[in-house]
Amino acid sequence: MTETSAAREMTVRRLLAQGFDQAETADATGLPEGQVAQLVQEAKAGPLRALLYLDRRAQRAEGHPGAVFFTDPGDGGVSAMWFICPCGCGQVSRITVGIEHKPHMAGPSWKWNGSTTEPTLHPSVKQASNGVCKGWHGWLRDGYWEVC
Ligand SMILES: [Zn+2]
Repeated sequence: MTETSAAREMTVRRLLAQGFDQAETADATGLPEGQVAQLVQEAKAGPLRALLYLDRRAQRAEGHPGAVFFTDPGDGGVSAMWFICPCGCGQVSRITVGIEHKPHMAGPSWKWNGSTTEPTLHPSVKQASNGVCKGWHGWLRDGYWEVC
């Protein structure tokens, strides 16, 4: 996939997540409706890549669905993983992950394979519905988000 088509797909995903239908999305982006339909099909067909950002400001600014950022896990092997909601709503969340262990803490935490480029988390990740997001639930496996 080229940069341009990735950017287009991101825009289309975001508009659809905001409740635009196919025709309105075509209108808003200036893309032919057939092309929007194709992007929707492509987005549904394949799992979503968890793109790694090394700069959290760039991650937020670009808002690519599913993009991830990890803080330095340090000696304890515990990191904060920031991610953009895979649904395309643009919401940014932070969860605590531990390398090959589930950190003991008051809030929820996840076991992480320690990879930033091909991360796998256990258990599944749930984004509760709220004013921004309609809700998303799925797995992060080998660097891809998969809906449950
Ligand atoms: Zn969402």
